[in-house]
Amino acid sequence: MAAIGLPAAAPSAQHDSDVLVVDQVVRRFGDVVAVDRASLSVGAGEIVCLVGPSGCGKTTLLRLVAGLEPPQAGSIRLSGRMVADAGGGLPPEDRGVGLVFQDYALFPHLTVLQNVRFGLARAAPRKQLLRAEAILERVGMAGLAHAYPHTLSGGQQQRVALARALAPEPNVLLMDEPFSGLDLNLRRSVREETLRLLKDAKAATLIVTHDPEEAMHLADRIVLMRQGRIVQTGSPVDLYCRPESAFAAAFFGEVNRLSAKAKGGQVDTPLGLLPAPDLADGEIAEVLVRPEGLSIADASTDPDGVTATIVDAKPIGRWTVAHLVVGGAEGTLQLVMRVPGVRAMNRDTSVAIRTDRSQAFVFRAESR
Ligand code: ATP
Repeated sequence: MAAIGLPAAAPSAQHDSDVLVVDQVVRRFGDVVAVDRASLSVGAGEIVCLVGPSGCGKTTLLRLVAGLEPPQAGSIRLSGRMVADAGGGLPPEDRGVGLVFQDYALFPHLTVLQNVRFGLARAAPRKQLLRAEAILERVGMAGLAHAYPHTLSGGQQQRVALARALAPEPNVLLMDEPFSGLDLNLRRSVREETLRLLKDAKAATLIVTHDPEEAMHLADRIVLMRQGRIVQTGSPVDLYCRPESAFAAAFFGEVNRLSAKAKGGQVDTPLGLLPAPDLADGEIAEVLVRPEGLSIADASTDPDGVTATIVDAKPIGRWTVAHLVVGGAEGTLQLVMRVPGVRAMNRDTSVAIRTDRSQAFVFRAESR
């Protein structure tokens, strides 16, 4: 399904500076194709987030890069060196990648310092100690170097796991849902701190998350997966403002969904005419409009506002969320509108609403 009427995002070319290059990798489990010809690259100092719904293959792709799964086709290169293809691959410990798992996987019988030193086993003991102490200082855990993992909070455990992964100064850091064990408030602060540490470390970082907001916050680039395939790669702005499919548009934010028929390069919707230059007359379009793409029209400047009836409206912090009904030739349609600030809106009153076209996406309807 192609985006209609929107400039295409730049293709994700591979560059010589890419530290991690995954090329057409396939991993099957019986009949399930967990990763289907996936290609991606991560440059030095770049943070790439791998996102998608549950079961789309994110963790499997990360495990393929780590060396915990073998690919059945395709290849993986790290720092210019082939580390895996269908013929086999290097074991995880020889790949020079740092790993941070969802559950942090700290050794319970080792102290914080010993956990961090574990990742440095190949260095001389004196060097191990100095490096472990320095990295614990950097993540703010030097004061708890002799504590055991079970005595630490979730946020502290996450920092130790990050320190252990960063201690050997890996070229590539792989993180699987590294913040999902933390409560919402802690998650924000730990995420900020981690972002700062990752940027300092200058490793090529691939982070798996199912949370689109987290990905938009952390990533230089986002890789979106669906059913084993990579369906779009781009900057957070590309994914949010220039989705290439209805799936991508809906994954990165709440949407109102409408169906409409194309005629003369446009679709006629209950919200008015929207451009659809690539659709032939009679083709069915799927139209997605973000709630923040709807607003109350100012009759003096926007005489083309569409009449809607407010079903209910609630201020929720920074936004007022209103449920509306608009009438169309083919019946009524329920919509959600989100406007900034606290706005008084009375139930059962009529308002004129306008649609911000940059927040309305028209796609050829997917054949089912
Ligand atoms: P989640 O966000 O829920 O962790 P995910 O996107 O990381 O999901 P994967 O864990 O990579 O998805 O799984 C992709 C598909 O491969 C799923 O259908 C899963 O059941 C299947 N799968 C993964 N690992 C195995 C395995 N070891 N054996 C059999 N099937 C597997």
